[in-house]
Amino acid sequence: MDFSLFSKLAQIPSAPGREELLAEEIISEIKPYCDDVRIDRIGNIIAFKKGTVGNRIMVAAHMDEVSLKVRYIDDKGFIYFTLTGGIDARTLLSQRVTIVTEEHGLIPGVIGAKAAHYLTAAEKTQGVDAASLSIDTGYGAQEVRDMVSIGDPVVLDRVPRELGGDLFTSKAIDDRAGVYILLEVIKNMPKSHRNDIYFVFSVQEEYGLIGAEAATADIKPEVALAVDTTGALDTPGMRPQDYVVSLGKGIGITLADSTTIADRVLSKHLIKICKEKNIAYQLRVAARGSNDAKVMQRAGGAARAAALSVPVRYIHSNVETASKKDIDAAYNLVLNFLSGDFEG
Ligand SMILES: [Zn+2]
Repeated sequence: MDFSLFSKLAQIPSAPGREELLAEEIISEIKPYCDDVRIDRIGNIIAFKKGTVGNRIMVAAHMDEVSLKVRYIDDKGFIYFTLTGGIDARTLLSQRVTIVTEEHGLIPGVIGAKAAHYLTAAEKTQGVDAASLSIDTGYGAQEVRDMVSIGDPVVLDRVPRELGGDLFTSKAIDDRAGVYILLEVIKNMPKSHRNDIYFVFSVQEEYGLIGAEAATADIKPEVALAVDTTGALDTPGMRPQDYVVSLGKGIGITLADSTTIADRVLSKHLIKICKEKNIAYQLRVAARGSNDAKVMQRAGGAARAAALSVPVRYIHSNVETASKKDIDAAYNLVLNFLSGDFEG
């Protein structure tokens, strides 16, 4: 895994509906390797590599990340927000954030918490109400109102770090891991391959799989593969039967989640590649969660669809944690799959 490339991608703010900074970076990385690269009206990047025979395979990773949205600025300049994409408000306390403005660039801020010395006994045991949290930018009300607009997105601010073993931590591993994997696959695909391949970097997944639905209707793929992340619950307090997936045990091949049953023929084919190429994998069946595979399966007519899920601990927080080995396994599986002759 090229950690410095991942790190660069992960630090670019890319809230749902405001993926343009990341899109710019992705396009500059992939342009030399594709037959065509375009952005559709909703903001998806659709990168095309022509095959020799020509069935359509769509592979997608989403560009957006969980984020906040400015909803109110008070008379002291504190900024109140809504949550986008399933963030636990407890994880926002005492965090740094970045406000993505229309015309004044990126503005740093912090979400402070009342100091422990002043908490009442009741406050110490209370949960965190997102509606009461606010962002402090250091600027006064007038300056904030001049620069920040209602509706501006706010993302978490974290520099990725390598941890022990082969683990690393970052914000937005969901789904910058998928974006990173597709970039590496695009760069390393063999020149000649059987199928037409559409690499889609989708928008607004965290808002309801919006971008992938539009792109699928456009491409009408016969085969569709989402490359995303999933919560790994192999952490203290959990039972092994509830882990869903574990870090370091390979790429998750999702057979079913709360909205999608993966195509059996495609799933079996992915497993066969893993066995033949010695790629570590784990089968995933989850009671919750959803990803772009849901809409890719049906939005362009019936497609054989499945999802690959990179295991991530503490998902949707600023300390998401994953394994480089699992990323490498996912890369190998996607590369071998797309280089092969699966037609659906
Ligand atoms: Zn995701």
